[in-house]
Amino acid sequence: MKPWYIDGIHFKCTGCGNCCSKEPGAVFVSNEEIETIILHLKIDKMEFLDRFTRKLHGKIALKELANFDCVFLKENRCSIYHQRPKQCSTYPFWPELLRSLKDWEGEKTRCEGLDHPDGKYFSFNQIRSIVKG
Ligand code: SF4
Ligand code: SF4
Repeated sequence: MKPWYIDGIHFKCTGCGNCCSKEPGAVFVSNEEIETIILHLKIDKMEFLDRFTRKLHGKIALKELANFDCVFLKENRCSIYHQRPKQCSTYPFWPELLRSLKDWEGEKTRCEGLDHPDGKYFSFNQIRSIVKG
């Protein structure tokens, strides 16, 4: 059976900040991603781990503030945008959201950019390549 997004998807990030705040979540970071971020922040790994991360399910995740904002969300913008983890840069093309149209539609309560009329067009092949990394 053909995937529901065989004809592509339109997506536009409006910068609403919802995916980085408002509800509990988990953004995991790999060692490689940590290296990229600490180079940008000009701090060492120990300081980064201490100030910006927490242990979650045996992995390293970014800290959240008490209101569930990501620790790197500043004035509704990602303060490490160009160094943000892959989990953030590949959103919303996550396997769990592409699994079914129902999952995709359900995510619209969180992200207003899905199927946005002014959104950029992503072909099936482009989406597959984002998913594969
Ligand atoms: S929820 Fe969607 S529109 Fe809002 S910041 Fe995140 S990706 Fe962009
Ligand atoms: S790292 Fe940036 S894009 Fe990712 S959740 Fe935090 S603020 Fe949002």
